[in-house]
Amino acid sequence: MPELPDVEIFRRFVDETSLHRRLADVRVFNRRVLNDLSPQRLKRALQGRSFHSTARHGKHLFVEVDGSLWLVLHFGMTGHLDFGRQRRTGPHDRVVFVFADEYSLAFVCARLFGRITLAQSVEEFVADKRLGPDAMAVSAQEFALRVRRSRATIKSILMDQSQVAGIGNLYSDEILFRSRIHPTFPGHRLTTGQAACLYRSTRKVLRMAIEREADPWAMPQSCLLPHREREGRCPRCRAALMRRTVAGRTAYWCPQCQHK
Ligand SMILES: [Zn+2]
Repeated sequence: MPELPDVEIFRRFVDETSLHRRLADVRVFNRRVLNDLSPQRLKRALQGRSFHSTARHGKHLFVEVDGSLWLVLHFGMTGHLDFGRQRRTGPHDRVVFVFADEYSLAFVCARLFGRITLAQSVEEFVADKRLGPDAMAVSAQEFALRVRRSRATIKSILMDQSQVAGIGNLYSDEILFRSRIHPTFPGHRLTTGQAACLYRSTRKVLRMAIEREADPWAMPQSCLLPHREREGRCPRCRAALMRRTVAGRTAYWCPQCQHK
């Protein structure tokens, strides 16, 4: 499931491929990804114009059409982007942005949980969806305040997009492993020191993931993610990793390094 690092890689991909090309057409192959936005309205809003810049907030990618119109992409479970010249339509292409020069950008989404919409500004969309601050942009103070005011488990707080936006199942496991905090530890019981450590780990893990093109298996061997599988062992102490459902998702942790 795409998390902040994946979406940051998608953002850079749009920057490298799709800016300043005139949009000739928008083809919608499955309107479920548009929710209540009609294909006609999307097409009317974009045709003849071009993408000027990009932004990201948490797991949302924003593509600027002009100062008061942004395309908003959310990648759901399996979404990604593809770009090419005279590209052949794939079975999971849901919306394809066709440029006048024969190139096109496709929103590919096998399981149809991804969404595309329009917004007047990034700020307005973020406020409207009640998203918390971006996990890479939030200040240490704000982060500590948010994680320590909730009685929920720390893993669910990290994954709650209204608290901090961008972190999902995989990277929350890595952040907690790095901080040596058990995934079911309640947020309100974190010490100031633990909250500060969690903040540093969050930034470090997300930065490392972006440097590695959001490939969890490419993370350093000292990280949890390359060992995060059945029979996996802790890279620090070699204990067998635990695996259990926490906050509705499969969490992995080290029973020796991460204390309750
Ligand atoms: Zn361990």
